[in-house]
Amino acid sequence: MKSSPFSLRLWPKPFKYFEHAKLFVITLGALVAFIVTGIFAVLYTRTTTLMYERVREQAATYADLIEHTKMWNYDYGGVYVEKRRGVDSNVYLRQLGVNPDVQVEGGRTFTIRNHAIMIEEISRRSVEQDGVRFRIVSPQPIDPANAPDTLETSAFDRFARGEGEWHRLQKGDNPSFRYLKPLFVEQNCLECHATQGYKVGDVIGAISITIPATTLARETRASKILIIVAAVLTICLLVALIYVLTWRLVIKLDEVQKRLKKLASTDELTGLRNRRHIMKRLEEEFERAGRLLEPLCVIVLDIDHFKRINDTHGHPFGDLVLKRVAKRLQEATRRYDTIGRIGGEEFLVISPGTTAEEALHLAERLRTVVSQEPMGDGEKDVVITLSAGLTLSKPGDRGSETLLKRADAALYRAKQGGRNRVEAG
Ligand code: GH3
Ligand code: MG
Ligand code: MG
Repeated sequence: MKSSPFSLRLWPKPFKYFEHAKLFVITLGALVAFIVTGIFAVLYTRTTTLMYERVREQAATYADLIEHTKMWNYDYGGVYVEKRRGVDSNVYLRQLGVNPDVQVEGGRTFTIRNHAIMIEEISRRSVEQDGVRFRIVSPQPIDPANAPDTLETSAFDRFARGEGEWHRLQKGDNPSFRYLKPLFVEQNCLECHATQGYKVGDVIGAISITIPATTLARETRASKILIIVAAVLTICLLVALIYVLTWRLVIKLDEVQKRLKKLASTDELTGLRNRRHIMKRLEEEFERAGRLLEPLCVIVLDIDHFKRINDTHGHPFGDLVLKRVAKRLQEATRRYDTIGRIGGEEFLVISPGTTAEEALHLAERLRTVVSQEPMGDGEKDVVITLSAGLTLSKPGDRGSETLLKRADAALYRAKQGGRNRVEAG
């Protein structure tokens, strides 16, 4: 899969388990985003419910108060108010055969205000003052003005099914909170309403309350935006944190892995490549050289009479000498050569793309770089010589072992020939 420049920048590709790490970060990020969204969704619902509940309680308090006021009026059988300018008699009472007016001594006239009209008049004042409207509505109103609207009619359907209250947020340009509480027929209601066919316990009407909900709608919208912004920020922050921390961990793990890999391919004593690594490298280089039809040079080097060094100066000094020899050999090889320790005091150099002349040069340089100066711990220094057997790959070589065998044979000849020399084979 070819990655885009964007994904390359976002996902630096530090190691071969990159796809697993990427999947891990994406899954964890998605999981965290899902959980945080869930938490904020609950928070959002809860906040909206609480705000709604607050208005519902307010409406319920209004309804109770109105019911008390209505009952107060009702218990008196209506109250009389002086009929001054603008105070009219209740025409509907006249229709029921009741004279609403009384005249008292001195020529003053009083007219009765029954509960329904009184509530209507208080409501008018309330609308003027704070916009809260309430009224008594009835499916069979004596006054047609008390007929329910569409929403109120649906509330009566609910009451018929036994529900104790009804409320709804009416959306639109002027949102309002609608609340209805049912009124039930009592014995004394029948005095006026018997002709309408009611019996005790029936829903005769309801107290309908309309509270302007512009503030509620605004607050709900504000908290909705606030919660969404908080959710998005939290998700972004957490996902970024997961990304940064996981990626840092992945890079650290990659470093550790590389270090372990290097340790696994390094000879502990000399710091050169170990036998396992260099043998694998030899196979790879052999194949590569065969493919590109390039020469491949292999040099096996063996310290002369190393046993004597150990015997004379002790094993730890022998180790020190091995380190010094390794260091000199390492410094004398080229960047594209590989050098490793393949035995106790035996080394292998792989030099790809080298001609016979260059190979001989290289082997001579390696031999002289070791023997030209004594080496040791400063107190006692010894002159170390080594013998080398070199060979170049030829057409017909069947494998890297063939090459190695030929180099070993050359080394043997160098030893036989008196040591401290290079033999080619
Ligand atoms: P030659 O010239 O024929 O190669 O003689 P040599 O003594 O070098 O060869 P031989 O194979 O007889 O002895 C190799 C010695 O290297 C024997 C062993 O004790 C020593 N040796 C092998 N590995 C280590 C090591 O890690 N540290 C030390 N100090 N000595 C080692
Ligand atoms: Mg040896
Ligand atoms: Mg030796």
